[in-house]
Amino acid sequence: MADVHQVSGLSCQQFINGHSVEGEGHHEQIVNPANGETLVTLAEASTVQVGAAVAAAQQAFSHWSRTTPAFRAAILLRIADAIEQQAERLARLEALNCGKPFHQALNDDLPAAIDVFRFFAGAVRTQQGQLAGEYIAGHTSMIRRDPLGVVASIAPWNYPLMMAAWKIAPALAAGNTVVFKPSEHTPLTILALVPALQEILPPGVLNIVYGGGEGVGSHLVNHPQVRLVSVTGDIVTGQKILQAAVKSVKRTHLELGGKAPVIVCDDADLDEVVSSIRTFGYYNAGQDCTAACRIYAQAGIYQKLVDALGEAVASLRFARKRDEDNEIGPLISSRQRDRVASFVERALSQPHIELITGAAAHSGPGFYYQPTLLAGCLQSDEIVQREVFGPVVSVTRFDTLEQAVSWANDSEYGLASSVWTQNIDRALHIAAHLQYGSTWINTHFTLASEMPHGGLKRSGYGKDLSSDSLQDYSVVRHVMAKFKSTF
Ligand code: NAD
Repeated sequence: MADVHQVSGLSCQQFINGHSVEGEGHHEQIVNPANGETLVTLAEASTVQVGAAVAAAQQAFSHWSRTTPAFRAAILLRIADAIEQQAERLARLEALNCGKPFHQALNDDLPAAIDVFRFFAGAVRTQQGQLAGEYIAGHTSMIRRDPLGVVASIAPWNYPLMMAAWKIAPALAAGNTVVFKPSEHTPLTILALVPALQEILPPGVLNIVYGGGEGVGSHLVNHPQVRLVSVTGDIVTGQKILQAAVKSVKRTHLELGGKAPVIVCDDADLDEVVSSIRTFGYYNAGQDCTAACRIYAQAGIYQKLVDALGEAVASLRFARKRDEDNEIGPLISSRQRDRVASFVERALSQPHIELITGAAAHSGPGFYYQPTLLAGCLQSDEIVQREVFGPVVSVTRFDTLEQAVSWANDSEYGLASSVWTQNIDRALHIAAHLQYGSTWINTHFTLASEMPHGGLKRSGYGKDLSSDSLQDYSVVRHVMAKFKSTF
């Protein structure tokens, strides 16, 4: 337990109206997924504390919403600098809390989180209202883009600090105030940032409440003063939030699950495809809503791909003693590992599915599961249809491109997809027909703060990242001014 305190300097469980305070609810253990040991015990926010956080945000909104974009941008830049100054400590804490290799937290997650604050600091200063002419004689029409009010931001556990940045930065940039709830599994990095946030932000502009979804999350979502709920999580969570939002007609911004199809045509560059799926099918132990997990390989390349990928996946390094030797970490919890294992067991009970590699929990401590590759999968198989959120990739053979596109679209999800071919016409044609929020061509997973990220269908709606996100965190208002002729 000493370890986490040394790393985090954790001094609070809630950040309400500029004060760090102890939670008044029941206690939860935060566990290190790499060895199953308790890192720290935290008290959840009580209902009263959730109410106090929303009230503080509501009060702060009256002045924060009237600050200029330049003022808010300067504050976001200071937050980015504060994260950068503590990057190594935060990366160490992120690695402890969600099990990812430290070098990935340091080199991938932290720079991405920092860049998101810097991006929105710049983007908000480019937003323009519109002044139209005289739709009605003697009147001038003005379109304003205004903030919404108190935003409840609710994050998952797979990229804790990065998800916090994705949610907090655009909301604050647009002039809203925020009550942020991290995942009950991974609150440590955002709580470790509280002393810096306390120095930088006016009280109440950003509040953080710790606790589970059904308790603290649900109180937050149901609070009548919350005007927008932004959540990244499971489809079922999104559905519950939608139901709660109906009562007070709140806006919702939903980033839900994914099951990314990867269409590999006969003429694809085999080495590139194998290397990309090896990395991005299993990155973050497959706990990624855009993971390259559902491969459709054309008949002419199918066997070569399965053979080469099998060898590549079997070489993925995990559960090694030295952090720098690991390419992937454990799953977030024993529950998640068991869920993944049961998906694989059910898949392997189908005689047509072939186990190429993996399919076992790691024998040592921690919630590791072997990187797994399953071939010969059919479109109707559960493993092809449902999100596993673990290190499991399925391969399905296809004959015609029409078949591949139709199978790729035959999914309740619509978040991310990729197509691999050296024929650019074919790539663009397939991309145009895929029903996904993002389609990559001859790559997978690459993302920058400028790019809109968000789904179609049951993957939700609303965009994270990009200036589109600023639109989602603001509202269009119309002001019509009458003027008298003075000539
Ligand atoms: P989850 O839905 O269990 O939890 C997400 C957050 O919602 C947590 O903070 C949780 O406490 C909260 N929550 C749960 N029930 C709630 C309720 N009734 N009211 C209010 N809040 C509630 O998801 P998870 O297990 O943390 O993350 C995995 C899921 O997230 C996967 O399905 C994954 O695909 C999805 N995800 C999507 C994206 C994306 O960008 N689309 C990114 C990352 C993860």
